[in-house]
Amino acid sequence: MQIYNTLSKKKEIFQPINPPVVTMYMCGPTVYNYFHIGNARSFIMADIVRRYLEFKGYQLKFVMNLTDIDDNIIKKSIEENKSTKELAEFYSNMFFEDLKNLKIKKADFYPKATDHVQEMIEVIKKLEEKGFVYVVDETVFYKVNNFENYGRLSGKNLKDLESGVRVEINEDKTNPLDFVLWKKAKENEPSWDSPWGKGRPGWHIECSAMSTKLLGESIDIHAGGIDLIFPHHENEIAQSEACFEKKFVKYWMHFGFLNFQNEKMSKSLGNFFTARDVLKRYNAEVIRLFFSQTYYGGPLNFSDELLESAKKGYEKILNLAIKIESELKIQNKSNVIPDFNLQKYYDDFSSVMDDDFNTPQAIAIIFNCIHDANKIIAGNQNIDVAFYVDLKKFLQVTAGGVLGLIHFDELMGNAKVSLENDLIQLLIKLRNSLKIEKNFLLADKIREDLNQLGIKLEDSKTGTTYKIK
Ligand code: AMP
Ligand code: ZN
Repeated sequence: MQIYNTLSKKKEIFQPINPPVVTMYMCGPTVYNYFHIGNARSFIMADIVRRYLEFKGYQLKFVMNLTDIDDNIIKKSIEENKSTKELAEFYSNMFFEDLKNLKIKKADFYPKATDHVQEMIEVIKKLEEKGFVYVVDETVFYKVNNFENYGRLSGKNLKDLESGVRVEINEDKTNPLDFVLWKKAKENEPSWDSPWGKGRPGWHIECSAMSTKLLGESIDIHAGGIDLIFPHHENEIAQSEACFEKKFVKYWMHFGFLNFQNEKMSKSLGNFFTARDVLKRYNAEVIRLFFSQTYYGGPLNFSDELLESAKKGYEKILNLAIKIESELKIQNKSNVIPDFNLQKYYDDFSSVMDDDFNTPQAIAIIFNCIHDANKIIAGNQNIDVAFYVDLKKFLQVTAGGVLGLIHFDELMGNAKVSLENDLIQLLIKLRNSLKIEKNFLLADKIREDLNQLGIKLEDSKTGTTYKIK
C-alpha cells in the first residue's frame, strides 16, 4: 500500500512503526463556532483513511484534538458574555453532534488543550533545558535557527521563509519565524501557573504534547488541511524532534481545500456554509460521495451542481440497496445463480484504495458493479437469494464500511423507509392486477399519482421497479 507523504513529497510504501497498530493524529477544530463544510472535507477524508486502514486489518489508534483556548475563543467569549469554558463546551458539543450526523466514526480520544496544559509545560521545560527557547517578559519563544531541519516539511529554507513570512508579528521575537510556546496572561484572561509566570500555551505546543501523551513520541500518520503545513506542522516537528530527539511523524498527510468560487472556504473570509446547514439539504451519504469523488489532496469547488450530481449517484446506490433488502425478505430459492464475479470488484477496489486512497477510482468501481448488477437483475427473473446476499456484503463493506455511503442497518432499521417500500410494493401489485383486469385508467392513475410524489415506476420485461426521484 502506498501513501503520499508531504515530507518526502512522494508516494511511499506504507509500513507502520508497530504493525498491526497504526497511530493517527488529526488536527481538530478550534471550538468557537459551528464548523463549516470545508472543515468537514478534512474530517470526512481523515475518516475514510482511518476506515480503509481498519478494513485492511490495522488496529487504529485515532486522536483528534480540540483547541478550547486561544485568542478567537477569548474574543468570542467576551462578545457573548460567557466564560471561555462555557463557550468551548457548547461548540464542542455542536462539533460532536455534526460529526455524528456526517457519519464520521468516533476517534479513540478527543483531547482538549485545557486538560493537558501540564504536559505542554513539561515539553517547554525540556526545550528550555536543551537551549531551544528564549523568554521575553514571561512569554516563551521557540528559536527556529537552533533547529537544523526547520522548513523541511514545507519545502523551504529559512531564508525563503523569512522573506515570505505570514506569521504573527511580535516585536519581542528575534527572528520573525520564532513562535510562541507560552504566552504571558493578560488581565482577566484564563491562565495557568508555570515556571515562567501565569499564562497559557501557544497553539502548536498543544498538538506536540497531546499526540505524545496519547500516541507516543513517534507516530505513524499526522493529518490536517494543507493550510496547516506551515507554520503549524512545521512548528510541531521543531518542538517534538528537538524535545524527544526522535522522528516525530512517519507520514504527513494533507487534505486539499474546499473552495467556494475558487477561493478557500474559511471562517475569516466569511464565504462558508456550516456543515449543519448543508446537512439540512443533503444527507451525510450525499456529502461524503461529493467529497470522495475528488482526490483528497487536491482542491475541490463547492457547488450545488456537484452536490446534485452526488445526490443522483447516491440514489443509484440507495435504489439497489432497497431492491436487495426486499429480495432478502422474500428469500427466493432457485437455480438462477448469475455468473457474477464479485471478487474482481473487491480486488479492483483494494488496488485503487491501496494507491494513496484513490477514492474517485474506488467510486467508479462501485458504480460499475452497481451497473452490472442492475443489468443482471433486469435480465433475469427469479434470481436466487444468494446473489443478493453477496451483493449486499460487497456494498456493505466497500460503499458502506469504508466510504460511509450507504447504511443498510438504517435502511432496515428506519421503519419509515421500509414501510414506504412495502407500501410502494403494494401499490405496484395493485396496479399489476388492474392491468390484468384491463382497468388501465386506474392503473395509470396510480403511476401518475406516485410520480407526483416523486416515486417513479419503471416497467420492464421482468416486472416493475421504482426509483425515488
Ligand atoms: P480550523 O478550525 O480552521 O483550525 O480547521 C480545522 C480543520 O479543517 C483543519 O485541519 C484545517 O486544515 C481544515 N480546514 C479549514 N478550512 C478548510 C477548507 N476550506 N477545506 C478543507 N479543509 C479545511
Ligand atoms: Zn495540530
